[in-house]
Formats: sequence, C-alpha cells, structure tokens
Amino acid sequence: MSAITVTLPDGSPLELPAGSSGADAAAAIGPGLARDALGIKVAGELRDLGAPLPNGAPIAIVTATSKGEDADDALWLVRHDAAHVMATAVTELWPGTRVSIGPPIPDGFYYDFDFPDGERPIEADLERIEASMRAHIEADEPFERSELPATEAIERFRAEDQPYKVELIEDLVADEGVETVSLYRNGPFTDLCRGPHAPSTGRIGAFKLNSLAGAYWRGDESRQMLTRIYGTAFHTQAELDRHLEQLERARENDHRRLGPELGLFRFRDEAPGMPFWLPQGTVLLRLIEGEVRAQLDSRGYREIKTPRVLDEELWHRSGHWDNYRDNMYFVEPSRREGDERRFALKPMNCPGACLVFASERHSYRELPLRLAEFGDVSRYEREGVLHGLLRVRAFTQDDAHVYCTLEQVPEEVDSICEAIDELYARFGFDRVRVELSTRPQKSIGTDQQWQRAEAGLRQALERQGREYEVNPGEGTFYGPKIDFHVTDALGRSWQLGTCQLDFQMPERFELSYQGEDNAAHRPVMIHRALLGSMERFAGILIEHHGGRFPAWLAPTQAAILPVSDPQLAYAREVAARLAADGVRVRVDDRSESVGRKIRDAELAKTPFMLIVGERERAEGTVSVRSHAAGDLGAIDPARVAGLLASE
Ligand SMILES: [Zn+2]
Ligand SMILES: [Zn+2]
Repeated sequence: MSAITVTLPDGSPLELPAGSSGADAAAAIGPGLARDALGIKVAGELRDLGAPLPNGAPIAIVTATSKGEDADDALWLVRHDAAHVMATAVTELWPGTRVSIGPPIPDGFYYDFDFPDGERPIEADLERIEASMRAHIEADEPFERSELPATEAIERFRAEDQPYKVELIEDLVADEGVETVSLYRNGPFTDLCRGPHAPSTGRIGAFKLNSLAGAYWRGDESRQMLTRIYGTAFHTQAELDRHLEQLERARENDHRRLGPELGLFRFRDEAPGMPFWLPQGTVLLRLIEGEVRAQLDSRGYREIKTPRVLDEELWHRSGHWDNYRDNMYFVEPSRREGDERRFALKPMNCPGACLVFASERHSYRELPLRLAEFGDVSRYEREGVLHGLLRVRAFTQDDAHVYCTLEQVPEEVDSICEAIDELYARFGFDRVRVELSTRPQKSIGTDQQWQRAEAGLRQALERQGREYEVNPGEGTFYGPKIDFHVTDALGRSWQLGTCQLDFQMPERFELSYQGEDNAAHRPVMIHRALLGSMERFAGILIEHHGGRFPAWLAPTQAAILPVSDPQLAYAREVAARLAADGVRVRVDDRSESVGRKIRDAELAKTPFMLIVGERERAEGTVSVRSHAAGDLGAIDPARVAGLLASE
C-alpha cells in the first residue's frame, strides 16, 4: 500500500503517502496548521504528531485555538509537557532527586519528587525552578519518544537510582503483562511516560508554579512521603493571568475562611464534617429556608417532618441497606433487656415520606400529593473527601416527594422548573443549565416504565422551550432525572437542584391510591430538591458573594455606630425601632473610636452603617453609609427599612 486516506473533521478525505504522521497531515492541510499543531486526535484518541497514521481513520489536528473537547486536549498536552519540564529543572537543581509521577490535572499539573535528605525545597525555591524551566522552554527542546523492552527500562532506571520508576514498570509487567514501555526525552531529562506530548518544550505558552505539598507515594500512608509541586500552564500569558486572578478571588471568597471570620459557622474536631452554625450563619440559613418555603407555599406543597433515627428493617426495605450501607451511620442504643431493635440515622428522606404517604388512604382526588421536608440527613463520607460546607456528613435537604400519576408528571416538572428559576434568580444566579440523565445499565423497572418516564421528563423540558444536555446512562438506578446547575460569580458551575422520577420506591413500599374506577393504583413518585443541601448552598452563596451579601440576605443588615457613649441610649432606641420594622440591626457599643467601628463594620461586610453623633441624637436622625452607594446623609430612622428594601 503506497497511500493511506484519512478523514478530516469536515468529512473530506485526505490522501497521504503510507507511513505519514500527524505532522505530515497538518503540513498537507496548510503551513499555518503545521506550525500550530500540538497533537492529533486519531479516531477520537489524542496522540503524538510524530506517530504514523492508520489508514481510514478520522483525524483532527489539535491546536491552541481548538474548541470544545479538543481545547481540553490542547491544554492537557502543554500541561503534561510542563510537568516534564518541571522535573527537568528540579533534577538539575537538586541532583539525586528521585522522580515518581507527574500528570496533568484539571487546573494544571503536578509532579511528585523524593528529594535527597535535607534538601527539600521551600516556596521561595519555586522561582528558581521556574527560571530553569523558562530556559528549557526557550531552548525549544523536542520531546522524543522511544520504546524499549521493559527489562531494559528497569535496568536503566535502576542504574540511575530511580526506584519509583522501577516499581512502576515492574507493576506494569506484573499487572498488565506489558513487554515494552515508552520513554520521552526532552533535553537532559528522560521519563517513563505513555505520552502523548506536543512536539517540543517551546509550545508551552505560559506557566506558573503554584505551591508545594506533601503526598504519599501511591497515596499510601505507609509509603514514602514525597514532595508534590503544583503548577499550571496555558497557551498564552493572558489566559494564565486570567486564571491566576480567578484563583486569587477564589482564595478571597473561600467560604472555609469567611465562615469563621464573619461568624457564620465553624467546624470542630469533635464532629468532623458537621458544621456548627453560629448566630449569624443561622440567620442566613433561616433566610434561605424562608425563600424555599415561599416556593412550597405558593405551589401546593405541604411540609412534614420525619424521624432522624429509623429501624434498620426500613433500610432493608428501601434498598439502602444493599446500595448505601457503607455511607450510613448506625445507632447503638444502650441495651435494655428484651429490646433487640437496631436503628440507623437516615441518609435520605424518601423512606420517611413513603411511610407518611402509606399511613393514610388516598384517593385520586388528592393527587398530586406534594410532601416537602427540610430533612436532616447524615452520610458517613470518607474524611478525605470532606470539604468545608461543600461536602459534609450532616446536612439539611430541601427535599420533597410528589406522589402523582404518570400523566401528571409533565405539569409537576414544569412547576419544579419554574420554582428553580425563581429561586435561583432571587439568590443572584441567572444562568441555569439543565441536564437530563437517562437509564443506566444497572437499573430496575421495565422498558416501558423507563420509556414513559424519560418521555415525561423530555416533554416537560421541551414544552418549556428549555435547552438541555442529555447524559445517556447517567440516571439513578430507579429512574431518569433532571439536574440543575448554576454558574457563580467566579465562573464555576455547581449542581444544585434535582428532579427524579421513580417507579420503584412506590413498589417497595406498596403505596397505592384509590382511582376513579375504585381500584387501587400505584402512584409515581418524584423526588425533588430545589437547592439540594442547605449547608452546601450556603457555602456556594458565601463564595458567590464573597461574604458580602445583598442587604436582604445579610445576617446583619445595619450596624448602628454611636460616636461616643452619650449617644448610646439613643442608638439603642433607634435599634429597637428598626428591629420593630423588621430590620436586622446591631449596636456597636464598644468604647472604641468611631473610625475603628466603621472599619470593623466594613470588615464584617455589613451593608449599612448608621452613625449617630451628637447632632444626629439632637435632631433624631441617623447618618447613613451604604457599602453600595457611599454616604447618604442624615435621615429619619423611620426611612431606614425602606432604604434597605430598595437596595
Ligand atoms: Zn509524562
Ligand atoms: Zn427522595
């Protein structure tokens, strides 16, 4: 065969001499593409430009300006390159360093090193490493791939005193029966690596080393502690700058820092992963709850409260015992003679809601029956995955279960979507992304049930003219679901609400209602949450606003700051009047200077300051200072509530 044909992304064929590489294909398309190419997708798989192309494959050249998934691949390539270049610099600066692994990760890359005794670098050394990396990038050293028998590679790395590489190859041989391994060389550094890489180090547009951390070899606490260096790389300096700016903002907005600082919540070692809500934070939770409750009230939901501790038998019946036991807390009551019952903390509210439904007879006239619950659930998450309020072990779901007929599903879903739109907009999230997840491989229920369920959800979304993505096979095992995502002020996406259709739990709990025909029928069940976890939502909200809440949501809306003690009584009088108007207000009664009080109210991110000096006291006014609008002058305290509401 003297020629091969590959297919370009637009479907057109490209004929090339047999043995042609990705680089040859790029050159055949045009000199610009040849210059810009970083890698190539062959039948959807990212590869080196230098690798020979198979006949008949669809190909796509990946460049810094590729879009969609190819854009992710382009970043992946330069970050992988940068990880190797970092290892190059580190092994030059610290001879005798043993290298382990260095993969690209979603926001950048890292490499784990075992430094010679007593020579571990500190943060200040990152600049030195960067300088050396820059030299290697300017030298534009090619990445050269070679393959050799595993036994030779083991000998080679053993001779170089690189035991981690030796172990990796030995495992590849033992676990995967690998006979040859690939190495990549750039300048003086050679690494065991599957690839792919961009053609040369010069393709790394911009990079930055971020931090140092400890990491166990292979994540195993009984193995060597290594030093992990994190960095990131982009195609251009402008992209990198934007990313670093965003990181800085994320640090400033981090709810784990702001929570204790603003007196919202704390974590304590006595209850890992379970937040202690402080007075200010509890006000915030109550305000969030109020908005959810307004949706419940206007949409025909009725609230219930079910027990937190339930008999283990129930969890067998609900299927949680089989599917969820590892994430549950079991309760060990002190034993009393003859009492053999065992209990578990609820990880979900559904079984409780089903027991409520089953406690009474229902007629078709009552459907849809919408039972809402601010349900306190406990999930035994691994310690390592806990993350502030975003991943906790105890939280409150704004949960609801709607029992209805299949025909009623689209209208119910409409109402849930509407509630979500209104609620998210209220909290300042105006971009809502919707995903529909369909039947997974492992599922229960009949084909017909699934078809009808998926069609019901689709119909509802289409009726609303809503754009949505489909995640094939990503539904729950009991039914398809719609997930709702928002984008925060920092451009990050969060999944909040969910709406799941379930035929299964009504079966397991033998739920029924009396139909128009007087016969018993099984209802369909919709599980839905608007915000998901109240705690997690509060965390997202804190980060979205950077702790500076709009006046309606601020736990303290106004701080009254007396200039000196003689105005204290008047300040308290004003506070009482405002509180009666529904304003959340506090008096700073410390004997500090007013300048200090203003600074502290600013640090507490209080939206309004009401300053009362001798003149204000004499005239019966307050001088208003708003964070958003600056000094507003002296006004009658009776106008403050209106002013806050209008912000
Ligand atoms: Zn590599
Ligand atoms: Zn549920």
